[in-house]
Amino acid sequence: MSVVKDLRTSLRTAPLRRPWGPDVPANHVIVCEVTLSDGRAGTGFSWTPQIGAHAVRALLDHDVRDALIGLPAHPELVWDRLSKHLDEAGRGGLTTIALAGVDLALWDLRCGERPLADVLGPRRASVPVYGSGVNLHYPLDELIAQAGRWKAAGFPAVKIKVGRPDLGEDVERVAAVREVVGPDTLLMVDANQRWDLHRARRALAALEPYDLCWIEEPLPADDLPALAELRRGVGVPVAVGENVYTTHGFRDLLVAGACDVVQPNVVRVGGITPFLRIAELARAFDVPVYPHLLTEVSGQLALALPHPAMVELVEDASLADLGLLAEPYPVRVEGAELRSAGRPGLGLTWAT
Ligand SMILES: [Mg+2]
Repeated sequence: MSVVKDLRTSLRTAPLRRPWGPDVPANHVIVCEVTLSDGRAGTGFSWTPQIGAHAVRALLDHDVRDALIGLPAHPELVWDRLSKHLDEAGRGGLTTIALAGVDLALWDLRCGERPLADVLGPRRASVPVYGSGVNLHYPLDELIAQAGRWKAAGFPAVKIKVGRPDLGEDVERVAAVREVVGPDTLLMVDANQRWDLHRARRALAALEPYDLCWIEEPLPADDLPALAELRRGVGVPVAVGENVYTTHGFRDLLVAGACDVVQPNVVRVGGITPFLRIAELARAFDVPVYPHLLTEVSGQLALALPHPAMVELVEDASLADLGLLAEPYPVRVEGAELRSAGRPGLGLTWAT
């Protein structure tokens, strides 16, 4: 088997056309190129919207590269080896974000000329995308305009942020979006861990008339007893996972009965290898997996997930929208359906 000969990284920062808040004006990507002893090369990436891009790159350059060189080009074996190597720096977080860059590159190599979804085993030809807004800071008129664009695009589902200091404003905003998208569009809300149990209960009672499809991260993602207690007491499904970084973290979430939907982020959990382990785990609990952000990779994974899922499309913030990718892109979104473009491997060509 070929062994890894080198790892090269480069950091790209892409300004967001619609900033995700005053403190999130850009997204950062660390492109990772892994070359093998047989001359082949694969490309992956690490990603962070806000914190830690330079730290991730430093981990890759100073702590991952030397441990990686000489290992066989086998994603699962490499993941387990490097995860142990980085253990002292923490089981999840910056370490798993860094590991993702290598793991994605090794999966790119494993695929060879075949598209990722074909290698994983596609269970469906397309997956629906849903309109997702990082819009808690939008004035009401901008929020309504965004909902109007989603409605016009024909998305079957949309998601907005909640968790403003005044619950009355959340209710007003959810009501306005429900009015725009109509009764037949699924409507999700995302509190990004802003509530405590008491506030979450009050908010969900006040939002009950708007027929929510799920409440995402109502509470801190690691407060499993509180999530489980909330879930037992409310009728709205609970979605959690974008801030859970390890397979064991997902196991604990599922064992605690803390959620109805899990949302692993393929980069934050450390790449495709752990993502698939988490998906298999979720299947054992009969809980669907809805991948978090990163439409171009999440879409390819969702084609192969055991349960049908929707893929999140944040307005103007896919890797392609951000100008990080060059054409041809790995997925095509037509109307509200995403399909693989059939490109080899992960199909990611990074813009130069
Ligand atoms: Mg979220």
